Amino acid sequence: MIQHKPFYSLNEFLRERHGGKVIKLSIDAGFTCPNRDGSISSGGCIFCSEKGSGDFIPSHVGSITSQMDASIAMLSKKWSKSEKYIAYFQSYSNTYASISLLKKRYEEALSFPNIVGIAIATRPDCLDDKTISYLEELSHRTHLWVELGLQSAHAATAKWMNLGYSLDCFEQAVHKLTLKHIEVVAHLIIGSPYETLDDILATISYVSKFSLQGIKLHMLHILDNSPLGQIYLKTPFKLLSKEDYIFTIGEILKILPPHIVIHRLTGDGDASHLLAPLWTKNKKQVLNDLNHYFKVNDIYQSKSLNKY
Ligand code: SF4
Repeated sequence: MIQHKPFYSLNEFLRERHGGKVIKLSIDAGFTCPNRDGSISSGGCIFCSEKGSGDFIPSHVGSITSQMDASIAMLSKKWSKSEKYIAYFQSYSNTYASISLLKKRYEEALSFPNIVGIAIATRPDCLDDKTISYLEELSHRTHLWVELGLQSAHAATAKWMNLGYSLDCFEQAVHKLTLKHIEVVAHLIIGSPYETLDDILATISYVSKFSLQGIKLHMLHILDNSPLGQIYLKTPFKLLSKEDYIFTIGEILKILPPHIVIHRLTGDGDASHLLAPLWTKNKKQVLNDLNHYFKVNDIYQSKSLNKY
């Protein structure tokens, strides 16, 4: 039997593109988010912690350069031979500022030694034409991609999550970015309590229709410093077990087109704030279990393409 690679990983994609190991350095550039500052709402997305989805970045202290220096110092024990980096603007909405401030932040990252690219996490409603033009210009100078939170293609889920933008807004943003040949990655949350497996696979089928560079999959985390944490403490609800999650990821991989890069198969929220599901705390074990499941069941990306 031919043993297929289970999926097209980010590591593999970056090695192909840059000829070696590339490390992402997470940055909190000091931006905020219209879903937190009152422009759209002040509560934020239901799952979002006080740190704006940047729970592993110590805090917005110091310059971009000093944050990158600190991350390299921390990571060098693990990857001593790495010489190439991607600056990952992770916390909050990283295009929610004036063009002059965005330029200042991104250019500082670009001037860092051995930077080969920039990854920008943002909302689809924070990408006006001027910003997209600037991103296009940047993409001619470095490997740039934009990460957009979609989470789910279902309007009821988006409403429950208090995302504050519509599917149409996501589609417009993807369309505008891809027209300018800017790579796009979609974030998806797996395991919302009101979604079935078919609902999840319908979202995967939906994102597969776009020319995405990649997707990032996360189990729904419930953090005590998020609105969802407060809801869950009052009225706990059933979450996916590790086995259910692994099965779901397998079904997702089977229908994903082969060119879509899998940036992440599971996330690990800030353990000190995690209320549930506790099995996500051990990310290494979850990844080992996923790989074992793929191997034993001969599951690989695109195995059942066009099923949905
Ligand atoms: S868009 Fe991002 S930073 Fe803003 S509330 Fe939602 S998850 Fe948090």
